[in-house]
Amino acid sequence: MKHALLLLGFLSFSQVVVAGPRIDLRELLPENNNACPTLSPIPFRAVVLNEGLSCADTTGVRNIMSKLGAWMPPRATKPRLALVLTAEDDNAYYSGYALNVPLRLKGSLGAGRSARYFPNDISRGVVAHEYGHAMLNSALASRNAEFREELALMTRLGEHMAIQQVVQLKYLREYRMLEQSFTRKYGPKSKWTAEQAREFEATVVRLSKKYEPQAQLNDKLLQEAGSKVSEHTNKHFSILSSYHEFFADLVAVLDGQDWALTGKIISILVNDRAAGLPRDFTNAGNAFENVARVESHELLGPARYALYQRLKSKRCLRPDPKLLIPAVIDAIHEQSRTAWGSSEVSTVAGRIAFNRAFVNSIFWRLDRLGAGLCRAR
Ligand SMILES: [Zn+2]
Repeated sequence: MKHALLLLGFLSFSQVVVAGPRIDLRELLPENNNACPTLSPIPFRAVVLNEGLSCADTTGVRNIMSKLGAWMPPRATKPRLALVLTAEDDNAYYSGYALNVPLRLKGSLGAGRSARYFPNDISRGVVAHEYGHAMLNSALASRNAEFREELALMTRLGEHMAIQQVVQLKYLREYRMLEQSFTRKYGPKSKWTAEQAREFEATVVRLSKKYEPQAQLNDKLLQEAGSKVSEHTNKHFSILSSYHEFFADLVAVLDGQDWALTGKIISILVNDRAAGLPRDFTNAGNAFENVARVESHELLGPARYALYQRLKSKRCLRPDPKLLIPAVIDAIHEQSRTAWGSSEVSTVAGRIAFNRAFVNSIFWRLDRLGAGLCRAR
């Protein structure tokens, strides 16, 4: 449930667009990957399939995106993303360019312990959360030219990160094929003579050299793209990050129709019940006066609980996402333009005010929606 927005914290900016050599991710993709982007209902910029996966494996993710994309504000553009699908991993993330998700989400219990896989609702919640980040970016970019430019820079960074993954993926594929052909020739690796092992090593060195220029050029372009990101953009994204996490969690709980879902996900992922509480919309411990956290995922914990309370008191715990999501995006757009910097949230009073202002901005919009928000669908 991390996302790469935080990477921007280290970088700086100018408005100039990267010129000179370009690497196109789609041109780098192996054959079987290129056939995927045309599949409906969600067309991707590119689909990167890791070892052993086929286009059919993207169906689940496509269906989630298709459902959630329909919640976007009517005039907003739906996110255009690359999809990087792995067979299994212990996390998922959104880089601004690509959504990196595993087919099976597994627990990281440390070396020597057997892998533990999470049930579908947990994996699905993680994907919905990450896609939520993409939805918010896309919606904000649709209505704000300055944000659109900032996002374009971030997307460029994410693209070079995805290219890094693809180059590595192709290298690994070829490495494995080499290994197999040597095994066929000389038998199992452990039985190779010193000379056979040297022959293999020499072939591997040639293979690395083949991918080196691409990897180096991409690194250079990644750095260049990073150097275009300004202080101002950094500040903007760091202000946005707690709204981003709130929003992504909201998308996940609405999708799962379970207001405690994001808290559960964190508790399960890190194997600690208390760790999920700040992100649990139903947790009364997230009342305003308890706002202890500055971390972006947790800063708006009180706003989560206040929203849940409000909807509960109106018997509206299954609100229409097509109304609620645009209202919250609207509130975020308004609030993130107000100058809230890290100094304001460094005190308890500042954090309470930060949460309250956001909640009031949401409530004002919900009141205007009236009973329509809660009408049975
Ligand atoms: Zn997140």
